[in-house]
Amino acid sequence: RQAIYAGMRDVQPMTRDGTRVKVMINAGLRDDVANLNLTGADGIGLFRTEFQFLVSATLPQREKQTRLYRDVMDAAGDRPVIFRTVDIGGDKTLPYLRHDDGEGEENPAMGWRALRVALERDALLKAQARALLEAAAGRPLNVMFPMVAEPWEFDAAKAVFDQQLAYLRRQKKALPEAIRYGVMLEVPSLAEQLDLLVPKIAFLSIGTNDLTQFLFAADRSNPKLAERYDWLSPAILRFVRRVVRTLEGTSVDISVCGEMGGRRLEALALLGLGVRRLSITPAAVGPIKELVGKVDLSEISAAMDDWLAAPPANLRGAITAWAADRDI
Ligand code: PEP
Ligand code: MG
Repeated sequence: RQAIYAGMRDVQPMTRDGTRVKVMINAGLRDDVANLNLTGADGIGLFRTEFQFLVSATLPQREKQTRLYRDVMDAAGDRPVIFRTVDIGGDKTLPYLRHDDGEGEENPAMGWRALRVALERDALLKAQARALLEAAAGRPLNVMFPMVAEPWEFDAAKAVFDQQLAYLRRQKKALPEAIRYGVMLEVPSLAEQLDLLVPKIAFLSIGTNDLTQFLFAADRSNPKLAERYDWLSPAILRFVRRVVRTLEGTSVDISVCGEMGGRRLEALALLGLGVRRLSITPAAVGPIKELVGKVDLSEISAAMDDWLAAPPANLRGAITAWAADRDI
């Protein structure tokens, strides 16, 4: 099987009925970028910039951040990289970045985290914005904000980038060739306000790890709950379908970057819901490319519509049988 997957490296994933599906990887360290060539993925759909912060004993200097982002883009070449601004706080605590009161939180996952930290400690976001803008001089830049719950949070984060961009322009520094901004959809409240975001964003990536925990109110790190809620539940699938439909016909690219997309049945379900871009763990790229090549999209989307019209408690059984029938 290993050999088959290595053989998938140069395969461009295309469904049986001729739709090209983009399969990208999630990454966070400089060394992860090697996985692009190993897997032949279409790009990095999620670069978790907080890893550099987490492995460092002190706040990484701006120059150090710039170097990392530049190295990653150099290594990726023509393939796009989506840089997610830091998602720290919550369970990813940094010794050098504490609450003012130094206290822990009762619910860190829904606490002082990600963009909430970045907008408050805006020196952090300013430095990261400058580092990204400088690293992308002369080439395209994709920036994604995590844990956006309200459209104004996107506006506030983008304003920090605009301010840094204006500064670089005044300094007559080389600027990125183009900048695309996007959001992670992982807090359900944002789904109710997508119409307000559509004119502002170029892409949206559904983070099914956090989305699942917030949709079911089930801590993703609590082992007692790990088996309780299924990604193939009607709640998740209908939610994703609604988001896909809301964005259909708009210019916003939609992808899924949570762990869900790297699993075979789940990826199949996502294809059936209209998702055409997945960003997944590198080890899953070969298997998912292989899966894509076996799928007829019109068939799986019709099946998904039927199942979701009168769904069982979860669709795992139905999708498993459907896939087995087709030797998928
Ligand atoms: C997610 O929440 O689905 C996601 C991809 O981000 P992270 O796992 O880094 O929270
Ligand atoms: Mg997340």
